[in-house]
Amino acid sequence: MNRLTALRRARELDALSSRTVDVLVVGGGVTGCGIALDAVTRGLTVALVEKDDLAHGTSRWSSKLVHGGLRYLGTGDVGLALESARERDVLLRVSAPHLVRALPMVAPLGADLGRRDGALLAAGHRAGDGLRRLAGTPRSALPAPRRLSVAETVRLLPAVRRTELRGALLGWDGQLEDDARLVVTLARTAASYGACVLTRVRALSTDGTCRDELTGAPVHLRARAVVNATGAWADTLAPQTRLRPSKGVHAVLPAAVLGHPAAAMTVPVPGERNRWVFAVPHPDGIVHVGLTDDPLDGPLPEVPRAQDSEIAFLLDTLSRGLAVPLDRADVVGSFAGVRPLLAGAQGRTADLSRRHAVVRGDDGAWTVLGGKLTTYRRMAQDAVDVLTDVPCRTKTLPLLGAHGPVPGGLPPRLVRRYGSEAGEVAQLAAADPRLLAPVAPGVPVLGVELAWGVAAEGALTAQDLLERRTRLSLVDAWGAAARPAAEAALAGERAGLPS
Ligand SMILES: Cc1cc2nc3c(=O)[nH]c(=O)nc-3n(C[C@H](O)[C@H](O)[C@H](O)COP(=O)(O)OP(=O)(O)OC[C@H]3O[C@@H](n4cnc5c(N)ncnc54)[C@H](O)[C@@H]3O)c2cc1C
Repeated sequence: MNRLTALRRARELDALSSRTVDVLVVGGGVTGCGIALDAVTRGLTVALVEKDDLAHGTSRWSSKLVHGGLRYLGTGDVGLALESARERDVLLRVSAPHLVRALPMVAPLGADLGRRDGALLAAGHRAGDGLRRLAGTPRSALPAPRRLSVAETVRLLPAVRRTELRGALLGWDGQLEDDARLVVTLARTAASYGACVLTRVRALSTDGTCRDELTGAPVHLRARAVVNATGAWADTLAPQTRLRPSKGVHAVLPAAVLGHPAAAMTVPVPGERNRWVFAVPHPDGIVHVGLTDDPLDGPLPEVPRAQDSEIAFLLDTLSRGLAVPLDRADVVGSFAGVRPLLAGAQGRTADLSRRHAVVRGDDGAWTVLGGKLTTYRRMAQDAVDVLTDVPCRTKTLPLLGAHGPVPGGLPPRLVRRYGSEAGEVAQLAAADPRLLAPVAPGVPVLGVELAWGVAAEGALTAQDLLERRTRLSLVDAWGAAARPAAEAALAGERAGLPS
């Protein structure tokens, strides 16, 4: 049973009123869903509660990079760098090869990157390649870094500024198809092993007191252990927790504005060491430009928003490497997230360690802090290690869709997003072939994707479909155009439910 539905949620909520589970996980981001999967595959009984929807928090606002840790070498944290490279390898080759691919990253050698900085970066790329080797990732999965000629640079980055261009440095890292899709896939995989995944259930404390956010009804869940995986919101349940949240912003541009680049472009932030703005091409003809990194003081917003000044910083920095500067009118969407960084160190948030920790509160509940998306599996392993002696299985465990035959003749975007489950998704159009068409003119998502979101991925509202099962809302115009189709998909499913 790997399908998450409204009906399953209702049944499981009901059944849990008379059951005690081994582990209650609070938070349905990448960390919480990773913990649920880790725990249930070690034979523990698991319930996960998420106050909103799967991937409602930071996990959908990442840069969607599966980092090999090169950045951490720059700050001297070799252990973290190697851990990242190992986790990248697991994601690329075992758990989610259908959702993670190799991304070429190109740093043009122009006026902004002097010969000394270029030499340092080339050395960094070689060190990053050493991490790849140590992590056991073959060259076939991540090719070797190398120097590019001017002609090769222009071919990969057609919009690059050619004045004083001496070529470029090419390195490789991992890129996710979609971070929210990874989270939903983790949740469904956990559910396929028997975990109860309950969205729209808010934990009010770490003693199992919760509220059904759909009805307002109190819910009491009994568990032998509680793990707080609420990321940047961890201190609302564990007040002793000390985090230093930092905000990161991306702008979304049509790929056409940058001449349809075939690689990510990185441009150094002037006056800073080891900080870059990058433009990463994504499927469906868009490019994400990131990334800011600024401390966020005061209460956390439920959904952070990008400020005009932050977008301007990204456009101005990237424009330094372009033949024609970008304009605010080029931006078709934007998004912002809050990193749940560990407190304790001084200095810029951009330099703070992305390490994680599992700590026990006075109430006996465990809280998982810090970390990053790439290392979610390791975070989950460390969290479940404190609960059981049974060995962890997730290093060799494929997620749903990761392996298995993919039938021929399917729309390529379904294979890209659903892997070996693509046939099952396409099957939803058997009775209505119109579901294999885009949901609105100019919008890339197909009708079956919305139908699958409701029938198998636990989408309960139109926002769930537009913002997390698909990422249509990343482009403002797509989100607006597809809303009627999302509402129709939900109504269609409800019409088929027993009343
Ligand atoms: C801008 C940006 C870019 C990033 N880019 C990358 C990258 O490219 N690669 C990478 O590896 N990492 C990246 N990261 C880091 C990574 O995204 C985060 O570390 C990770 O997603 C955190 O996941 P999480 O599950 O711990 O938290 P979240 O995803 O925030 O999940 C916590 C969940 O808990 C829920 N919740 C909160 N309170 C309650 C409650 N009381 N009851 C029930 N549920 C509750 C929330 O709704 C939320 O869904 C980036 C971060 C940012 C901000």
